Amino acid sequence: MNRLGIALVISAPSGTGKTTLIKRLRKEFPTFGYSVSCTTRAPRDGEVDGRDYHFLSRERFVELRDQGHFAEWAEVHGNFYGTPLPPVREMLAKGQDILFDIDVQGAAQLRKNMPDARFLFILPPSVEELERRLRGRGLDSEEVILRRLANARAEMQEAPHYDALIVNDDLDTAYDHLRAAYLAATLAPRCRPGLVEALNNGHLL
Ligand code: 5GP
Repeated sequence: MNRLGIALVISAPSGTGKTTLIKRLRKEFPTFGYSVSCTTRAPRDGEVDGRDYHFLSRERFVELRDQGHFAEWAEVHGNFYGTPLPPVREMLAKGQDILFDIDVQGAAQLRKNMPDARFLFILPPSVEELERRLRGRGLDSEEVILRRLANARAEMQEAPHYDALIVNDDLDTAYDHLRAAYLAATLAPRCRPGLVEALNNGHLL
């Protein structure tokens, strides 16, 4: 018996290990689908329309946005980016789970437009530890580190609106919690419409 797909939305301040955790989840569950975003920026060398992004003119993007085509959208560095809703709905209806790695503002829009999605937030064990990790990467200037820390504090204010909080102190434990939150989401009754009725009617699963 088929179930409906789950939209798993994951947000986290940078430096919390989100990328590592998501990679691991995709490796264990390679069937997760991707949503191809729309953008108004020009394609870079090697990028393919429809695979990396749907590349649109600004006029077309605004037209689609105003028609409610996007589950969420944002302006980043002067270009518009958006997640088209119809293909996402189609994938979910076919039972395809989709993972969204998205910031707190995008997630807030998704919560309105996709209320059945599950929202997970990854937290650092402490702000001090986050600062230590950001410095340890050796990637950023002092100014950038301070900005990332201020952003992290602001983003963490949004964490109580999520369905599950995953503290990444120990990576293996955090991953266990992430996969548990995902698997629990797939067991929700709304993902199994008709299941109980089918059982009552004597159908085998
Ligand atoms: P890039 O132009 O380098 O591919 O992406 C620039 C930024 O746009 C990245 O921070 C990326 O996360 C963000 N972005 C890409 N697609 C989307 C989208 O569909 N929605 C939102 N809100 N941001 C996006």
